[in-house]
Amino acid sequence: MIYFVGAGPGAVDLITVRGQKLLEKADLIIYAGSLVNPELLQFAKEGCRICNSASMTLEDVLQEMEQAEAAGRMTVRLHTGDPSLYGAIREQMDALDQRHIAYTYVPGVSSFSAAAAAVRKEYTLPGISQSVIITRMEGRTPVPDGQRIADYAAHHATMVIFLSTGLLDKLQDELIHGGYAEDTPAAIVYKASWPDERVCPCTVATLAETAAAAGITRTALILVGDFLDGSYDRSKLYDPSFTHGFRKASQ
Ligand code: SAH
Repeated sequence: MIYFVGAGPGAVDLITVRGQKLLEKADLIIYAGSLVNPELLQFAKEGCRICNSASMTLEDVLQEMEQAEAAGRMTVRLHTGDPSLYGAIREQMDALDQRHIAYTYVPGVSSFSAAAAAVRKEYTLPGISQSVIITRMEGRTPVPDGQRIADYAAHHATMVIFLSTGLLDKLQDELIHGGYAEDTPAAIVYKASWPDERVCPCTVATLAETAAAAGITRTALILVGDFLDGSYDRSKLYDPSFTHGFRKASQ
């Protein structure tokens, strides 16, 4: 059996209990070394084979998995954050389907959740934003038509932008082009939940200069929107005058 496991955003104790137990049982761990915290490998049992996928191709990864499977060994494929976001997990699952190799998928805490915790904010605020747009700048990986930053900026919803720390000049141009005011609050969250986590508050117009001043070039998320600052409406859920399935209004 192959287990795809979300490693969480960085802090060793932000992997799920299920994920940690699987790491402890694995005969082979293939981990995404560019972002997974290597301290998680302390959970591996003695004799476990450990491969860093940073220097491997999809074919190499599949070969390791097939060999382990043929020998009756258990594999954990450890992906950063939650594997459903920019994890390149689908192509692995499809290849395993073709080979009739069984797999299970264990979710993880994404860095976008850890980033909200780092800035101590809520992405969805009544009257401000009820949607979160998770996206990235077009880089060497293209973005389909209609899904560019400027298209999404027009919605003025909360935005969480992955994989774009090296493209901040372009990113801020696109955000402003798409309709965000220059002084819209933004934040750069570097290595959320890691011991060297850093939060740099700024505005949409100062993203590039803020990152440059802080020396941040990778492993960061860009948060954009009025959820970072300013007023909002109180939630209905905890409003005394609001009745719902679990509570009657008191006024
Ligand atoms: N599946 C992962 C994302 C993988 S893409 C997840 O759910 O988090 C890799 C990108 O994620 C990085 O370029 C960076 O933009 C972001 N990222 C991953 N871990 C991060 C962290 N701890 N803090 C800030 N950004 C992070």
